Amino acid sequence: MSIPSLPPPNKRLGQNFLIDPNIVRKIVALAELSSNGHVLEIGPGRGILTEALSRAAGHVTAIEVDPRLHAYLNTKQAELPNVELVCDDALAYPVENLPMGTVVVANLPYYISTPLLFRLLDQRGRFPRMVLMLQDEVADRLVAQPGGSDYGVLSVMAQYAADITKAFRVSAQCFRPRPDVASAVVRLGMKDRTRLSAKEEVTLRALVKAAFAHRRKTLVNSLRDEGYELHPVIETLKRLDIAPTRRAETLSVEEFLQLALALD
Ligand code: SAM
Repeated sequence: MSIPSLPPPNKRLGQNFLIDPNIVRKIVALAELSSNGHVLEIGPGRGILTEALSRAAGHVTAIEVDPRLHAYLNTKQAELPNVELVCDDALAYPVENLPMGTVVVANLPYYISTPLLFRLLDQRGRFPRMVLMLQDEVADRLVAQPGGSDYGVLSVMAQYAADITKAFRVSAQCFRPRPDVASAVVRLGMKDRTRLSAKEEVTLRALVKAAFAHRRKTLVNSLRDEGYELHPVIETLKRLDIAPTRRAETLSVEEFLQLALALD
């Protein structure tokens, strides 16, 4: 059998490969892995992080969409004895079948980092921690506080589910090819208990989406434009002591929770 050579990077698939072993070490340290634990890696690429994860954890599931890289990694299986290499789109892969307690560690493909984040957060009962490399701009949105333009649906939904820290920025020089955007590593520690039932969470998500759908408008007008009945919304806001003239970006996560509970 001929050994596939290292395929050239495909920009469309967000292939900016880490080349700095020090960054790999810092990512793995943040993940606090145990020698019998399970890890999910999305986008193993050429395997620099996968090899370190393989040494630090008991089992790694590594999902790579590019069949060329999957074939390349298969030739390195001897160095990755406890890694299950899966060739699939991470957005379609049934992460709900992974063992409870799986830690997610990944240098994400940036072009789908937001839908991937929502998908992982949906299954957060399974994932106690995630250590993720993202665009710096997405990292800022994850940790954003009310009042600024970074604060939006992702901030509210992620902070509702997890305690999030932006751990460190990563220079473009640490990748080949170099990405056009700045990068950062974030750690999400899932909250043991969230306050809403599954049904109330659906209400929260719809509410937050509708509230931010028209960022420049007041909360009430944005919700009205998204099909909410004006009267009950205004009454509820009054009861919660939230001025109807406020805009969505000024509401704290707690205020969104109170509003979702009241409107459910
Ligand atoms: N982990 C490697 C590293 O740190 O060098 C590669 C990271 S690179 C930023 C992102 C990787 O995700 C690429 O290998 C790319 O092919 C893969 N990828 C892109 N889209 C994907 C998808 N939908 N599902 C799974 N992997 C994907």
